[in-house]
Amino acid sequence: MIRVVALATLQFTSGGLFDGRPADKRIHLVRMTDSGTPGPTICGIDRFDKNGPGWSVGGGISGPGIEAMACPGCEAVAQRDYSAAPVWGSTFADLFRKHRKAPHSVRNLPVVATEGQWA
Ligand SMILES: [Zn+2]
Repeated sequence: MIRVVALATLQFTSGGLFDGRPADKRIHLVRMTDSGTPGPTICGIDRFDKNGPGWSVGGGISGPGIEAMACPGCEAVAQRDYSAAPVWGSTFADLFRKHRKAPHSVRNLPVVATEGQWA
């Protein structure tokens, strides 16, 4: 059972530490509990697939020439299932304008959803 208190931004990346690039311009969301970010993106991408790209939760690659947009699938699920959830992330939380921004520490946030998967 997980207790969701917020959603966190997630950017898929390719390349390594010094030549990393966004995999595409979409910024996804993952469920956030007070102890981690279990499960796939809320639009359903399994980020733990060992053949999949790397990813960054909360931060990521931004700056001149880097395009970023809210994933429409994640945005729709966030509004449908997690409308009360704030969005956590230092780099891309502002892309999700229908949600308020989460504080850096999510330990004292109210639970917005309780789910049985990804325990
Ligand atoms: Zn998504």
